[in-house]
Amino acid sequence: MTADPIDRSGLRPRYWETTPLDRMTPAEWEALCDGCGKCCLNKLEDEDTGEVALTRVACRLLDDATCRCAQYPIRHQFVPECITLDPATIHKHMYWLPLTCAYRLLHEGRPLFDWHPLISGTPETVHRAGVSVRGQTLSEYEVADDDWEDHIIEEPLG
Ligand code: SF4
Ligand code: SF4
Repeated sequence: MTADPIDRSGLRPRYWETTPLDRMTPAEWEALCDGCGKCCLNKLEDEDTGEVALTRVACRLLDDATCRCAQYPIRHQFVPECITLDPATIHKHMYWLPLTCAYRLLHEGRPLFDWHPLISGTPETVHRAGVSVRGQTLSEYEVADDDWEDHIIEEPLG
């Protein structure tokens, strides 16, 4: 079994069903991330319509093999624009957050999917369910900004 890069030990059973986002501990909040990697893909926003298109061109720090940020604790040294989600500001990000993102689902009052590692007990299920971007990305180092539109994809939803 693949080791879970997120520490999900010692959490209260099914806490996400009983605890509002703004009452969770930092560890509970971090454990909500399913490791899909979709929020680390670059997006294109239509200035006129506000529509957001996802591309397979990933942030320079996304590790395509693990679907994880290669420098998560110190990522802002390399990618200052990386967004830190928090309960107070999550509403501002709903327009672009992936449809299966646990933060989005809970903010909308919806349940987590059974493939979420908090339920399945393994981070592999997010990949097996076909909702992650593992093995599907190109680094932003490899694709010029002007060519991102050639790499627009549908969000993998499983
Ligand atoms: S989209 Fe949400 S669940 Fe997926 S990696 Fe990003 S924060 Fe985690
Ligand atoms: S810095 Fe890390 S967490 Fe932020 S978008 Fe890039 S890969 Fe994702």
